[in-house]
Amino acid sequence: MHHGAASPNVTQRMTDATQNRLKQQPLSREEIRRHNADWVHDQFRGMLPLRPARQTAVVACMDSRMPIFGLLGLEPGDAHIIRNAGGIVTDDVLRSLILSQRAMGTTSIVLIQHTDCGLTKISEDTMRAELEAATGLAPQFSFETFRDPWANVRQSIRRLRLSPFLLHRDAIIGFVYDVGSGRLNEVSLDAEAPSA
Ligand SMILES: [Zn+2]
Repeated sequence: MHHGAASPNVTQRMTDATQNRLKQQPLSREEIRRHNADWVHDQFRGMLPLRPARQTAVVACMDSRMPIFGLLGLEPGDAHIIRNAGGIVTDDVLRSLILSQRAMGTTSIVLIQHTDCGLTKISEDTMRAELEAATGLAPQFSFETFRDPWANVRQSIRRLRLSPFLLHRDAIIGFVYDVGSGRLNEVSLDAEAPSA
């Protein structure tokens, strides 16, 4: 509860959020507290079951322009959402998917990468050289940079199909999200990239 100062009204809070966005200010502790209090009041629906109701795990890029719940029509409690830079099927993504399928009953995987991905704009070599110059060290992992999201989704589907630890490898659906139109375009394993 907020004691002392009068709580600002909703319009004021929205104005603050817009101004901070325009100023490109990082999210502050105070903003988080206020938004969470509003969200608990207006949107939180109480305790839900641990197992995802739609038996689905989504693997997606961390890109800030992809609101996964909204664009897939998901509600809290529906699906696991696993995100990283690129939406790459790394060992850690496999770790999450294995737990998702074996311990929490999901049976299908939705992969979402997208156009204009940050990982298509940097090179593995430059990134490693930069880090080595700055620190004397290079990480053991790959940054998994790529050029073509369509080819990269196909590679990700293949990686998933090759994992013997997954229980369900048949229901894997891959998409490239178009950040310009908001549309999800399905990627077929066989087809080549469309000449868009
Ligand atoms: Zn991305």
